Amino acid sequence: MFVVPDVNDLRTRIARWKATGERVALVPTMGNLHDGHMSLVRVARANADRVVVSVFVNPMQFAPGEDYESYPRTEQDDRDRLVDEGVDALFLPATEEIYPGGTGSVTYVEVPGLSEILCGSFRDGHFRGVATIVTKLFNLVGPDVAVFGEKDYQQLLVIRRLAHDLCFPVEVISAPTHREPDGLAMSSRNRYLDPHERAAAPALFQALRQTAAALAIGVGEFEQLASQGAAMLESAGMRPDYFEIRDAETLGDPLPGRDCVVMAAAWLGRARLIDNLRVTVPG
Ligand code: AMP
Repeated sequence: MFVVPDVNDLRTRIARWKATGERVALVPTMGNLHDGHMSLVRVARANADRVVVSVFVNPMQFAPGEDYESYPRTEQDDRDRLVDEGVDALFLPATEEIYPGGTGSVTYVEVPGLSEILCGSFRDGHFRGVATIVTKLFNLVGPDVAVFGEKDYQQLLVIRRLAHDLCFPVEVISAPTHREPDGLAMSSRNRYLDPHERAAAPALFQALRQTAAALAIGVGEFEQLASQGAAMLESAGMRPDYFEIRDAETLGDPLPGRDCVVMAAAWLGRARLIDNLRVTVPG
């Protein structure tokens, strides 16, 4: 596996692959890799000849006061896992390589409509940071395929929209959420949970599942279901930012007969957990 910290080196290697007609897949991550990330790598491998994984803790997507400084960085473990998985290149840039002039006055990418709602209303500038780094990575790597997790559902829709709107010739593929045996979605931030909090954490998935089950059998009181979901989180000791039922494609209001998505974000101790479940509402 090539470990590439340098942008020009990355471009040169990828150009060589592309010159021989090889398809290149990109899996962007912030590192501290877990089995969820690895499932994305396998999807990438199944859809391309070469797999590039980026590991970059992107300062621009952390709102002021968030966990940028303390975000877990586990470079050697990440490298070992990616070698075991047969990844072709690990792009591991320094912050200055990506933001030579800092993040303050850089050109940015904004996806309106999808970015200000849900997580965006609690994390100022978060999706601007995500859209900007993903655009930069698409420009640097020129991937034929890019793989993102459904775990970050709003992020997935933001990226699909930016790829479409900015005419990137990339196929955005989503991969299902990888879970612990008790249902908790895998996340680098789960390591912030103490044992007591970790025991309470599966309540998030349980609340989503209960809500999705009610929707699937035709219960149509969306607001009531959402407040019951939020109450379940509170009784498990969480502080919900939101618990919402939204249209799965637009994130607008849910409509009978269309797929919707139950989405939640909640604080448990110092971890902000997010998760979601898609469900078809009967017409
Ligand atoms: P992150 O390193 O948290 O920025 O995540 C990098 C990519 O992995 C994103 O596309 C995430 O949606 C995806 N991802 C994170 N956790 C999971 C999970 N439990 N299952 C599937 N994909 C995930």
